[in-house]
Parts: sequence; C-alpha cells; structure tokens
Amino acid sequence: MQERLAGKSILVTGAGSGIGKAVATRFAHEGAAVVFSDRDGAAAHRAAASCRDAIGVELDVSDEGSVERAYAEIAGRGIALDVVVANAGVQLFGHDAPVADLDLDVWKRTLDVNLTGTFLTVKHAVRALRGRGGSIILTGSPTGLTGEGAEFTAYSTTKAGIHGLTRTVAAAYAREGIRANAVVPGYTETPLVTSISDDPESRAAIVSRIPLGRPGTPADVEGIMVFLASDEAAFATGSLFRVDGGMTTL
Ligand code: ADP
Repeated sequence: MQERLAGKSILVTGAGSGIGKAVATRFAHEGAAVVFSDRDGAAAHRAAASCRDAIGVELDVSDEGSVERAYAEIAGRGIALDVVVANAGVQLFGHDAPVADLDLDVWKRTLDVNLTGTFLTVKHAVRALRGRGGSIILTGSPTGLTGEGAEFTAYSTTKAGIHGLTRTVAAAYAREGIRANAVVPGYTETPLVTSISDDPESRAAIVSRIPLGRPGTPADVEGIMVFLASDEAAFATGSLFRVDGGMTTL
C-alpha cells in the first residue's frame, strides 16, 4: 500500500489508548514519524514501541509546564512537527450529569483537560508550526453539536468549545499556512467501549439511531484523520468532519 504520510512528523495527545492510540498507530503505518503522548507516560511508550519510527512522551495537557516540556523534548530530538492532533480528553462517566445535578468539581475537572488542555496543546502547536505551516486536528463530538449529550453537560460543553476553538485557530493562522479542523467521531467501538458496554440491548438502541446502521470503528476515524494530516486536505480549514454514520443529520 502507498504510504500517504511519508516524511511527516506528527504529535498525538492521548495516544496511550482508545482512538488516539489507533490513529497514531495508523499514522505510523502510513509512513509518518509519530510522537505518542499521554498523561500515562508508560502507556504512551508501550504504544510507540509497536511502531517503526515512533517515540513515547509523557504529557499532561492540562499543565502548561508539561506541555512546554514535551514540545521542547520533541524539538530537542530534532523533530520538526508538521501535524498535531489534540485528542486527549476525559469523560467522567457516572459523575457528569444534566446541569442541575452536576457538581462544580466534575465540571472543572472536565474543562481542565478537555478545554484548557486542548487550548494549551493548540497554543504550543501553533508556536511549533509557525514559519513552516502544518495541520492541527482537534477531536470534537456530536454531543457538542446537538442534544445528544444531555446526560453529559460538562463533556458536551467542552466539545462545543473545541468546535469553536477550531474555527478561531483556522481563521487566525490561515495566512501562515496553518490549517485547523475538527474530526467529530460518533459512537465508536474501541476495545474499551466494547468491554464496558457489552449489553446487547443498549447497543441496539444506539445503533438504531445511526442511519448507516452500524457503530463506527477506529478505522473509520483513522481514515479522515489521515486525510486531514495529508497534503490532500491542503484547502480544508475551519471545518468539522463528522464521522458519525449520519447520526447528527437526524
Ligand atoms: P477514547 O476511547 O475516547 O479515545 P480513552 O479514555 O481511551 O478515550 O483515551 C483518552 C486518552 O487520553 C487516555 O489514554 C488518557 O490517558 C488520555 N488523557 C486523559 N487525560 C489526559 C491529560 N490530562 N493529558 C494527556 N492525556 C490525557
């Protein structure tokens, strides 16, 4: 198969598990040099170890010092980034709730990682890409577009914020050749999702709301991420790319 990302250097946050790990691994298979980063440094190193031209870096996106150290380490290894995927995030299942029942602490913890963490990742990504141009990809969610996230006020609000951040970054840095787009994955069956929701009835209820009639897979998300990281997407900026089987067209 032709490698679509040969010659690109790519940082992915939250690459220790789930969608981030799948996407970062796919980037490596497409010929990119990949930096797997995660708050869980051991998970980042483990994930990177299975790829040819990859390293693992510990990075807590909610801590600006940690973000700065990670970017400095990457530059110090002589890696000039072309693409940054701001993917790290949390969803505090069992705590995030409809607004009247939502604890301030849960709200703050969610905003700290998902919104402030994405801001810090993107802030330092722009600084790293300046002068060369590049692509920034943010991970959004249908819960930030529709009432889909009624049970998850904090998470949904952060994702709406990420969609807004995507547009402001795209508009602010287009002249410098820096593109910013968001991928909006719908219900995606990662190994973790499959292991915690093995109840066939609730799965069937979710699938019944997906016009394409099946859940998403990590490969579905990888495909659009590879496109946005590649030069084929050279004229795409400020857009949200939904990979949700048509769920938000309802
Ligand atoms: P999904 O299935 O949506 O990809 P996961 O929970 O599997 O969700 O993946 C999210 C990743 O983000 C995890 O590897 C987690 O360690 C990472 N992560 C969570 N908080 C932070 C943070 N503050 N900084 C960096 N990575 C984080």
